[in-house]
Amino acid sequence: MTMSNKLSDPRLFRQHAYVDGKWTYGDGGREEAVNDPATGEVLGHIPWLEADQIRSAVDAAEKAFPQWRALRADERCERLLAWYDLLQANREDLATIMTLEQGKPLSDARGEVEYGASFIRWFAEEGKRTFGETIPSHIPNAALGTIKEPVGIAALITPWNFPLAMITRKAAAAMAAGCPVIVKPAGETPFSALALAELAERAGIPAGIFNVVLGEAAQVSKLLCDDERVKVLSFTGSTRVGRLLLEQCANTVKRVSLELGGNAPFIVGPDMDPKEAAYAAVAAKFQTAGQDCLAANRILVHESIHDDFVEHFAERMSALTVGNGLNSEVDLGPLIHGQAVDKAAQIVDDAISQGATLVAGDQSQAPGPNFFMPVLLTGVTPKMKVWREENFAPVAGVTAYSDDDQVIEMANDTEYGLAAYVYTHDIRRIWKLLRALEYGMVSVNSVKMTGPPIPFGGVKQSGLGREGGTSGIEEYLETKYYCLGSLGSVSGS
Ligand code: NAP
Repeated sequence: MTMSNKLSDPRLFRQHAYVDGKWTYGDGGREEAVNDPATGEVLGHIPWLEADQIRSAVDAAEKAFPQWRALRADERCERLLAWYDLLQANREDLATIMTLEQGKPLSDARGEVEYGASFIRWFAEEGKRTFGETIPSHIPNAALGTIKEPVGIAALITPWNFPLAMITRKAAAAMAAGCPVIVKPAGETPFSALALAELAERAGIPAGIFNVVLGEAAQVSKLLCDDERVKVLSFTGSTRVGRLLLEQCANTVKRVSLELGGNAPFIVGPDMDPKEAAYAAVAAKFQTAGQDCLAANRILVHESIHDDFVEHFAERMSALTVGNGLNSEVDLGPLIHGQAVDKAAQIVDDAISQGATLVAGDQSQAPGPNFFMPVLLTGVTPKMKVWREENFAPVAGVTAYSDDDQVIEMANDTEYGLAAYVYTHDIRRIWKLLRALEYGMVSVNSVKMTGPPIPFGGVKQSGLGREGGTSGIEEYLETKYYCLGSLGSVSGS
């Protein structure tokens, strides 16, 4: 059964790039297959655009920019809300596309559509609040202040683990600010991005404002980074590629926003109920089969409750069902591809060879080549890859600690600084950890932490800038200062 047959609106399944309001083939004729990670079946093909076609996307954005920025904020808001409504109306199809190309269970995909759409609604409204300021003048007879202006064309490069929300979190902020966008989605998950383009067109977003380009990642990114007309690059993906892009943007002194990898600690205090904490840790670890920048990568449990915690964790983990995300019983879908499975296996082998204990996780039970059964390791130490690297797999590593100072040191022992979880009801411990953890986001006694109103982002090598909240739109705005002199005597100036 093809992708189109699974959708109530087959026109949402697009196999072309979207540039200047037109569905576009690659001039060179090159096409790449996109596979369902659960079955290996080819879902469809996408063209790889040539260099001139990438430049023509920038031409289109340049041409469309003046009219879009000239709209009143409430007019842009109306268009974005129409887009939001269409995402909601087509939620089921968008979730199906996502599950087929990404592998996550349908219920998670529905959640992501909801989450992704919520950024459009949030930023549609935020666009109306891009206030400047009035500055008390130090210059006689002058009025001083600032106004906010759109930065200009934004290039958005996004990953495969959240194929829809990572686009809307950037694009809605940029578009609400008055900027046109050029999206380069991950090669594994282009169809969610193209469905967004189809809905943007239906919502009346003008040609050239929301473009989706497809092609060889390094080439496309280089062209966008080198182009002076592109004023901001926003990237979500690995720290490795983020570093490359930061370097590439130096030549044109572009504004850069980076949402990179994480290596989240999940800290459990001695006062916690081990069962409650273990269940929360399972929820924080296995979302999107562990392929989540917020996944609890290093689970640090006070020695006094360690053994009970491990028992409850193993019991909860064993109840997770692994399989094709289209099956409603499934909790964990496949990993994105075979290399991800190999990497997960290497991480587990490395830990065991250095003395970790494999408590659970039998790979002979995996229902297909791209599946990886959840693994629980104990006795994890800082030398192991499972500690040092973002494992991006359903591999949970547990380490015992003895006091708060030790756990702070352990938690901060990483180049990453995206998110940390703390489970304790001791207010003094909460405050101490909250202040000492070198992370952009700290979630206390809650697995869920994200959503449109919060400033999402990391410190250290987890990134630059924030998405969402009141700061998200600032990434796409310039502050213009004005000084109106020779006004004569102005009372209060
Ligand atoms: P990735 O390999 O860095 O790829 C991300 C994007 O960069 C894709 O569009 C990819 O295109 C492109 N890309 C790959 N190589 C490139 C190169 N040499 N030059 C320019 N662009 C290049 O990351 P991923 O494996 O897709 O995603 C997983 C990573 O994203 C994890 O580290 C995760 O933590 C991070 N992430 C962070 C957040 C956050 O908000 N902080 C959210 C989600 C994910 P192709 O697919 O076409 O190669």
